[in-house]
Amino acid sequence: MPFTPELDASQPALDASQRRQVEQLVRRAGKTCEVCGSGDLSCDERAVRTISDGISVRLFCNNRKDHADGVVGTEQTLFALEESDAHRIGII
Ligand SMILES: [Zn+2]
Repeated sequence: MPFTPELDASQPALDASQRRQVEQLVRRAGKTCEVCGSGDLSCDERAVRTISDGISVRLFCNNRKDHADGVVGTEQTLFALEESDAHRIGII
């Protein structure tokens, strides 16, 4: 793959449509907030490329009221995408 300095290869950006598709996958996987159990999770604007799990995404919980201090949950572990899903969504 040619080196393209304007692209950050380690953290592929996700557009709104890609984030929606990732959030559908997360819901289908039955993933819920690790703090409050809410299924209302949003995907971050950048994916994370990890050596062990390939493409992963950071998730944020939208249920502020059940979080101490009202901070949107950043406590989620990375959600690893199947390589086929990451391809279909166009992340890789
Ligand atoms: Zn939560």
